[in-house]
Amino acid sequence: MSIQVLDKTFVPFLTSEMIQDKIEQLAMQISADYLGRNPLFIGILNGSFMFASDLYKRISTPSTISFIKLASYKGTTSTGTVITAIGLEEDLSGRDVVLIEDIVDTGKTLSAFIPSLQKMSPASIKICTLLQKPEALQHELQVDYVGFEIPNKFVVGYGLDYDGYGRNSQEIYQLA
Ligand code: 5GP
Repeated sequence: MSIQVLDKTFVPFLTSEMIQDKIEQLAMQISADYLGRNPLFIGILNGSFMFASDLYKRISTPSTISFIKLASYKGTTSTGTVITAIGLEEDLSGRDVVLIEDIVDTGKTLSAFIPSLQKMSPASIKICTLLQKPEALQHELQVDYVGFEIPNKFVVGYGLDYDGYGRNSQEIYQLA
């Protein structure tokens, strides 16, 4: 059944079962890859809160989790936009960091943020995203764990919003 969010209509795209099955697979793979390494998961708010929660419940290796918001400002360097983290209090030095993102679209956000994360001397940084739009990617970005590769169409639900609304569903919907 289609849903209405503000002025737009969205149609069903990924069911709750499809999402949860995929998260189970991702969690198994990540747990195996990070066995004995004490990774630090960092969920990027707001969009990833449901995904991060469901993923982290299924991670079986000892690890910690934290959440950040990203803020962008115009840098003075040639790189243009600089992105910094709000709320990051952990000491990252020597930690294996796994960023948890809801969706990678152009890749602009993460490619601008990762350099500032690298300055904190983590042992490694990997990216786990529930959704990726490969056709939209415009920046050099290695995404290590991808739940679903999806077409270049706007989606809502399961934490993803349209103008703040539409996050509260267990399914993901696509713009009609
Ligand atoms: P990027 O920097 O990769 O272009 O964009 C990443 C951010 O754009 C995501 O974290 C998300 O907030 C937003 N975004 C990109 N595509 C979509 C989409 O289809 N639906 C929603 N709700 N947000 C999106």
